[in-house]
Amino acid sequence: MAAPPEGSIDRVLDFARYAVAAAAVAPGTLLSVARGRMEPQIGEGTDFGGLRRSEHRVAMAGSREELRSLLAKAARQGEAVTVAGSRHSANGQTLPRAGGLQIRLDRASGRWAAPTMVGPTRVRVSAVHTWRSLQAWLRPRGRSCPVLTDHLTTTIGGTLSVGGGIGTASVAWGRQLDQVRAFRLVLPDGDEAWCSPEENADLFRHAMGGFGELGVIDEVELETRPHRPWLAIFRYQHRDLPGAMDLVRQALEHPAVPGDLAHLVVEGPILDTPFLQFELGLEADSQQQARDLLRDAPEAFAHLERSRRVLGHRAIVKADQSNDRHNRSASYVSSLVGYKHIWNDFFFADYDSFRRFLCFTRDEVFARRGCRHLMSGLSFAYPGDPLDPVDPAHRRAAFSFPARQGERYRWSFGFNYSVPPGPQVQPIIETVATLRREATALGAGLYGYGYAERTAAELRQAYGSVVDDFLALKARVDPSGRFGAGLPLR
Ligand SMILES: Cc1cc2nc3c(=O)[nH]c(=O)nc-3n(C[C@H](O)[C@H](O)[C@H](O)COP(=O)(O)OP(=O)(O)OC[C@H]3O[C@@H](n4cnc5c(N)ncnc54)[C@H](O)[C@@H]3O)c2cc1C
Repeated sequence: MAAPPEGSIDRVLDFARYAVAAAAVAPGTLLSVARGRMEPQIGEGTDFGGLRRSEHRVAMAGSREELRSLLAKAARQGEAVTVAGSRHSANGQTLPRAGGLQIRLDRASGRWAAPTMVGPTRVRVSAVHTWRSLQAWLRPRGRSCPVLTDHLTTTIGGTLSVGGGIGTASVAWGRQLDQVRAFRLVLPDGDEAWCSPEENADLFRHAMGGFGELGVIDEVELETRPHRPWLAIFRYQHRDLPGAMDLVRQALEHPAVPGDLAHLVVEGPILDTPFLQFELGLEADSQQQARDLLRDAPEAFAHLERSRRVLGHRAIVKADQSNDRHNRSASYVSSLVGYKHIWNDFFFADYDSFRRFLCFTRDEVFARRGCRHLMSGLSFAYPGDPLDPVDPAHRRAAFSFPARQGERYRWSFGFNYSVPPGPQVQPIIETVATLRREATALGAGLYGYGYAERTAAELRQAYGSVVDDFLALKARVDPSGRFGAGLPLR
């Protein structure tokens, strides 16, 4: 009889601890759902993070015309303004300076541009809509958003403006912003401009990832892909974060990596427990094809199948399982009323730095401080070469950077701490600050939505002269610096 994998009892115990933790939060989550809470609760005067507050006025913009007129009026009056989509930012990115105006993009009005195909593969849609509604429109047409994030009710404009859109399919399709071909930007004074690699190329490059500092992304043209309904998933449980990631990387960089690989997520620790698992998934057009794919593990996963350090199992899921992920985590997060969400992701352009960061996380943070209040750690990889075919000079969205020479992937790790108000908040802020310092020292970029105190010097260290290009553009479109949350950019 074959010996059981090394440490398999520990892994079973890890899973048991996770199952107990999940069961413990289930009643609160179900009660919250029964009360109709399926979205994070965001109080007035703050955002999802709940750590920043501001006294400000709120105006609803129910259409592009209303938005333009509100912006023009604020410009005449010299008023500070921000725009807000679903308000899921974690560090006050949607909050105007004191006494200013927050313009909420009111998608419920029904007066923003609905999706329409503008070619066989390209969709045009107002960026105030959510990714969930766009995906629901595309699916019956046999198309799909190439990448969906863990949370589907963020707005298209909100995600593009913080520089991301990373999800399980990023391993194959990059970020959501890699799919953008053009957009119309409503400028801080209410004027507007179409932006693409050919037209207003500097605005095209910088308004994505531009934190809502350069204008409001109004209509956007995005690439779509054929909808493939099934995923054959190879799921592995491991005990060690860097060790798990090494195995993932080996699979991704294997010469025989399957062309259908379109799903990767590494998740853990979860819910205060050491439970850690990763999934590699192959897309399929039918359930039968998915079954066939599962029968024999691909050659690129042979080291995983052989490893005595992982416990594996296989499953077929509907490709829309990211909806399930959304429902699971969104309903749990929605039950945490009044909590502070101290979330941030760090992005690395090379694997060695990423691995060193994971070792630091394991040894200096999780081992010493535990992972109390860590709702989950979530990691993705996305191709090192930007996928968009536009001129390389325009590829880089502000505050985002290409992989280092010779690297096939860029890597991210996100820490999602959700903390009840009280004395436990400050220690977690300090933990996240420690992680940020280490990540920055290793050359990582910070995700624009997260909880991060950063200085212009740090931004320059991470992103180089692109920060100054951005600032010059900002001075051009918003000379009085009224527009946006006033990031430490000056
Ligand atoms: C539960 C949860 C899970 C998440 N999971 C993921 C994930 O898996 N992957 C990932 O990549 N991200 C993830 N995020 C981060 C999320 O993508 C960002 O927080 C995103 O900004 C949220 O969109 P929003 O509509 O709430 O934007 P808001 O918070 O409303 O706005 C964010 C920023 O964009 C600006 N802005 C908003 N709309 C526009 C517009 N139309 N034009 C110009 N600027 C605009 C705002 O001024 C602000 O600076 C998650 C967030 C949460 C809360």
